[in-house]
This record gives sequence, C-alpha cells and structure tokens, in this order.
Amino acid sequence: MKIIPHGAAQEVTGTCHEIQIESASGTKRILLDCGLFQGKRQEAAMKNAEFTFNPTEIDAVVLTHAHADHCGRMPLLYKRGYRGPVYCTYATRDLAEVMLQDSGYIHEKDEEYFCKHLAKSMMKCEGPLYTQQDAIDCMEIFQGHNYNDWFDVCDGIKVQFLDAGHIVGAAMIVLEIVENGKVHRVGFSGDLGRSMLPIIRDPAPMPPVDTLICESTYGNRKHEEITTAKHVLQDVIIRTAKRGGKVFIPAFSLERTQEIVYDLHVLWDAKGIPAMPIFIDSPLASRVTEVFMKHPECYDKEMYDRFLARGRNPFQFSLVKYTENVEESKALNENPGPLLIMAGSGMCEAGRIRHHLRNGIENERNTILAVGYMAENTLGRRIVDPEVAEVKIFDQFYRKKAEVVSINAYSGHADMADLDSYVYEVEHLKTVILVHGEMDGMEPFSTRIKQVRSDVTVLQPRREEVIEITV
Ligand SMILES: [Zn+2]
Ligand SMILES: [Zn+2]
Repeated sequence: MKIIPHGAAQEVTGTCHEIQIESASGTKRILLDCGLFQGKRQEAAMKNAEFTFNPTEIDAVVLTHAHADHCGRMPLLYKRGYRGPVYCTYATRDLAEVMLQDSGYIHEKDEEYFCKHLAKSMMKCEGPLYTQQDAIDCMEIFQGHNYNDWFDVCDGIKVQFLDAGHIVGAAMIVLEIVENGKVHRVGFSGDLGRSMLPIIRDPAPMPPVDTLICESTYGNRKHEEITTAKHVLQDVIIRTAKRGGKVFIPAFSLERTQEIVYDLHVLWDAKGIPAMPIFIDSPLASRVTEVFMKHPECYDKEMYDRFLARGRNPFQFSLVKYTENVEESKALNENPGPLLIMAGSGMCEAGRIRHHLRNGIENERNTILAVGYMAENTLGRRIVDPEVAEVKIFDQFYRKKAEVVSINAYSGHADMADLDSYVYEVEHLKTVILVHGEMDGMEPFSTRIKQVRSDVTVLQPRREEVIEITV
C-alpha cells in the first residue's frame, strides 16, 4: 500500500491524499479530499491549475468536509475527466453544493478582474479555474452516507465516517484495506474539531488503526476555553449598545456565522443582551444556514433539547434579520444603531463587510469584532493588528477609531492538548503521518508523540513523497 500526499504536506491548504493498493482486480487509487490551495495568489494559482496525478485513473474520492481546502478542487477534477463516485456525509454533500458554486462564481469574477486590470503586465488569462456551472455539474457524482455506516469504496477498501466535531457534516475517515489477504486499517483525522463547540457533536475517538494520517494545524498552540467566547460576545454587545454604536462582525459563512447566531439566540433567551437588531448581511451565509436546518442528524444534544425538541429554529428569533438584497444592505449605513451586522468575507478581503467597515471604522462608538483567524496580508489582519493605525479599504485610507476585539475561542480546530490526547489514545498504532500544518506546529507535535509513544513512527512527508506501508 502506498500513501501519497498531493497537498497539505508541510502546509495547511490543498488537502488531497492518495491511497494506492493492489486489489484482486488490479491497482486501485482513491483520494481522501480534493482541496484547494490557498494563500499567496500566484503560488496558489499555479498549484491549483495542475493535478500531480491523472484524474481519470482515480477510482473513488472520499471527502471529509465542505471547507474549500478539502473539497474546493472537486469541480476541476470533474472538468478534467474524473467520473467516479465522491463519497461524503449527506450534510457535506449539501454544503459542498452551496460552497463550490460560490467558489466557482468567485473564480469567474477574479478572472474577469485580472483580465481587465493586469492582462498585459502579468500572466495571460486562461479562463477561471472552474465556473459556477462546473460546480453545478460535478454534483452528479456526489453520494451521501450516514455517519458510522460502513460502505465499499472500491475493490479492497471499505470506509466509515465518524464525527470530527469541526463543522456540520465534517467527518474523520476510517478505512479497512485488504491487500494480499491481509487487513490494514488507516485513519484520517480530516480537520479535527473540538469538544463543546455549539451546534455539533464532539469529535469521536479514533478507533484502533495501524496508520493514522493526522492534521497538525495547532500542533504548538493552546486555544482559549470555548466557554469564554459567549461572554466576550455578550460584553461587546452590551458595551457597544451603551455607546449607541454598531458591532461589525466579519463573518465566515460556513459554521462560524451559525455558531454566533446560535450563541446570540441563547444570550437573548437568557435576557443577557439588549434588544439590538442583528443583521446577517451575507447571501452565502443565509444559504448555508438553510442547509444547516436540513441536517438535524448532525446536531448535539444541547441543540436538540434547547431548540428542535421544542419546535424552535435556532437561527431565527425576533432580533435577527437576514438581508435579502443590496438595497437592504446599503440601508444599514443610514440606520443610526445600535445594531449588529455580520457580513462576509471573514478576512474582509471581499464582500459587503468592506462597505460597512468603510462607513463605520472611524467612529469610536463602534466595535469591530473578529471571530476567526485572520491570515497575513489581509485587511482583517491589519484591522486586528494593534500596530496598524490606518487601513486601506477600497482605494482610501481610514483611521481605526472603532474599538477592535478578537475572540479566538471559537476556533473549530483541535489545539495541541486535543491533538495529543487524540493520537496518544489510538490503539494498534504503528505509523502517524502528520499533514495539514506548518513545520513550527508539526515539529513539536512530532516530538511529543515520539516521547509518549516510542512504539510509533512519525512522518512529516513532503508533497508527492511516496510512503510505502507494509501490510
Ligand atoms: Zn476545515
Ligand atoms: Zn482544513
């Protein structure tokens, strides 16, 4: 058996791991995830454009979840001739449908912009990576499955999805592989989530496996306690309402927005926040929220008891309004407040949040509340960076007079303590393959595993490195 990481090897994005086996009916190749590379534009564009394997030789694809860095190249794989099955949970299938179309739309718009502004000086325009229509087309090969059920993926490989506790529909994958009459079990963490996140169930433990492919995003970082998040959110709202200001939350449309609406609903039920109107000003977030409502099979007990069992919709309550069009969005500028606006994009690089920030960042009564990771070189990062006094929005500079608050506790990723206990407890383990992490997080994680589990080999493969596993 061979395992070949085609992405997320010594980096975070572009997850795509090939498993190659010799079955009774010949060589079988399956992909675990088919994600987009993100980061520096030119570098990512080059990595995304070409597959480092032949798409038509792949027998099956198994997806962990609907984040772009795990499924964002599926439309391209389809465009390049792949017609085999794509297995994922039912919720992932429905979320991928929304997210991939949005991604196709963004690729089209980006291409238009580059052709117009950079055509002569930079690279030539070869068309978008894929279009919204490509994203629609590729859905025909998606197949939903339940958590915990075993199913055949191809000759010699059976698979099971377990709760990853990361976002709705997210799964870790357990594979049972038969080669030369011997059984070998492989586990793939996907993106390992955290206990106690709102809405979704906690991550399941990994059952006994021989080989574990494990993410390592926060292999060297400790998160704030998740329980602190709701209190910070509450304090920000009370404080801003007293000042008569507006709260702006740059929103990540998938999961984080719904988690915050959920927490706001719980706070409102407990009379913990003033009656401040809450506007969800993101068409994508609204569509994703609709998908969430269709998948109660992913909810945890608290979500079920508090809302569903009582016939209540967690994402709808008297303060919340989902804006329907650009006019409604623009009208928010004239609204004196106090009010709260959640708008995309999460890192403020695109979308309606930039318009709201332009109008509100120079007002000291307002608060900008960051609830997710802000990557380097983004407007979001410059906003949360205390060293930066002025930020450029569209073509103009604005002074940061609004209060800026960051909540890191909503992170959907396991931290170092979560990762440690996850790996230490896996029985039968012989090999751990660390992926989905930068070296500075991976190295200390690897050292800790070797100290505690001296019986285990830890690998940190490069992209395209072929790992031979003897069955
Ligand atoms: Zn993810
Ligand atoms: Zn990821």
